[in-house]
Amino acid sequence: MKPVDKSTVVRALTEMSQYLQLKGENSFKTRAYDIAAERIQGTTEDLAALAAAGKLTSLPGIGESIATKIADLVTTGKMTALEDIKAQYPPRILELLTVQDLGPKKAKALFESLGVGSLDELEAACRDNRVRDLKGFGQKTQEKLLAGLELARRSMAAGGRKRLGDVMPQAEALLDFIKRAPGVKRASLGGSVRRMKETVADVDLIASAEEPAPVFAHFLTFLQISEVIGSGESKTSIRLKETDLQVDLRVLPDEDFASALHHFTGSKGHHIRLRGMALEKNLTISEWGVFRMAEDADAPKKGTAKHEGAQEKLRIREEKDLYALLGMQYVPPELREDAGEIEAALAHALPTDLVSAEDLQGNVHSHSTWSDGRNSLEEMVLAAKAMGFKYFTVTEHSQTSNYAGGLKIDDLKRQWDEIDALQEKVKGITLLKGIESDILEDGSLDYPDSVLEQLDVVIGSIHQRYSQDEDAMTKRVLNAFDNPHLHIWGHPTGRLLLKRDAAPMRMDEILDKAAKKGIVIEVNGCPERMDLKSEHVRMALQRGLKLSLSTDAHSVDELRSHVPWALASARRGWARKSDVINAGDLKAFRAAITRR
Ligand SMILES: [Zn+2]
Ligand SMILES: [Zn+2]
Repeated sequence: MKPVDKSTVVRALTEMSQYLQLKGENSFKTRAYDIAAERIQGTTEDLAALAAAGKLTSLPGIGESIATKIADLVTTGKMTALEDIKAQYPPRILELLTVQDLGPKKAKALFESLGVGSLDELEAACRDNRVRDLKGFGQKTQEKLLAGLELARRSMAAGGRKRLGDVMPQAEALLDFIKRAPGVKRASLGGSVRRMKETVADVDLIASAEEPAPVFAHFLTFLQISEVIGSGESKTSIRLKETDLQVDLRVLPDEDFASALHHFTGSKGHHIRLRGMALEKNLTISEWGVFRMAEDADAPKKGTAKHEGAQEKLRIREEKDLYALLGMQYVPPELREDAGEIEAALAHALPTDLVSAEDLQGNVHSHSTWSDGRNSLEEMVLAAKAMGFKYFTVTEHSQTSNYAGGLKIDDLKRQWDEIDALQEKVKGITLLKGIESDILEDGSLDYPDSVLEQLDVVIGSIHQRYSQDEDAMTKRVLNAFDNPHLHIWGHPTGRLLLKRDAAPMRMDEILDKAAKKGIVIEVNGCPERMDLKSEHVRMALQRGLKLSLSTDAHSVDELRSHVPWALASARRGWARKSDVINAGDLKAFRAAITRR
């Protein structure tokens, strides 16, 4: 038998609690399992050894009855009591508890009255209005459950991950809230959110204060909290409404802030490398700080607060101090993935001019009410001007995209008249005539050359027939690059985060040809796209390709709100200001899209 690890025990205890709640057992009994799960999670003891010695009850919070069940699991690989209770229910019933607003009481009612035992059955029952008619439910609850169901499915499919763009507004609101807590000196987001990964599993917040308790008390008054998962001396975890996101807040003395922030920003791969390098310099790095070791000491074990063997705690005021100790350049959070940044930082060859929001001078990809946008062209242009953009490229959908109000040739010509009239009226921003032309199945664009050649900027994008195989898709894109009027390859892989995978294509071959033909690669800032992904951005840059950072805005609001997601992909792909065509002035932009 494979030894049973701690997480299996924790999961079994949690499931026991859930099943007992479904049965309607009293909360005193079910809470005991939750508490036991929490305690086991926190223990560093060897459970198998304790079980063998009959000493599981020496752990705080573990009574005789639960100890017997844990012993059963760690010695036989099965918890008989859990298997017995599971057998009384449909196999997927616990799925129901992943739906927001659906607690064990409601789940019990749904199962006992309607036989609902899975998400699919819950959906069917809602659609037939059987849930609405159930006592204690009603129309409103039914609607809530349907919405929650959709969310639960999406996060299940993604292993609980969520899109960065969906998470960030709440995360930032929470950070602002924490900064206003009594006694807070510094506060920051950490984890994959800070590294701007396109999907994230949870949110880490790190704050410094002399007294953590008032900060945690303030944290728990945040209105969007649906559940308090746990709280300890230095950490409190909650779940948020709407996004159903777990947030861990850690509060530490200010002297530990930078090293804790660094620790909880990750990534794991990046840290492991740094810790190894530190050991060679007789240093240890952990969430508790950086220590210089005595010559013959062991590295401190996790959970030992005193750091036996540590001689001296070093002062880490900012994260950059930590890198400096290791003889490295500061590594921006977006680059901390152990993808070559450590070698580059050691050689002091890391780019120090990664593209930033202030660099962007032009908006290159946008839609208005001429196609499927929500604001008029004039509103879009005035908003772009107010944001400080110096040029603005009008790129509606093309005639094949009739589902998106694509423009026929006549429409396009009428739009040129409006653009000319608008340019007369609005000064201080240059309007460029463009199009987002569909790349058809065979790789051709959907306007004749005689039309394309009159445009300042032609973006070619795939919008239909994503089901082609890798070979057909690759050829389709390669053919499109042969069109001499194409300037920019729009949202290249067509991926929709958590919904649709990137279209299969041979990216090496495609980027090689783009480099040969002088095609610019778009990094699309729609939060559901973030396309191209950062690995491919790096591949493009290694070939000397230029990037267009686009908002693909369909409204005035998106002109602003989509910028961070384009920047995130570009920066994670190591893009510098000089790699981005709309980070230059109009003259440089025009030169950059000139085809070879
Ligand atoms: Zn598009
Ligand atoms: Zn578009």
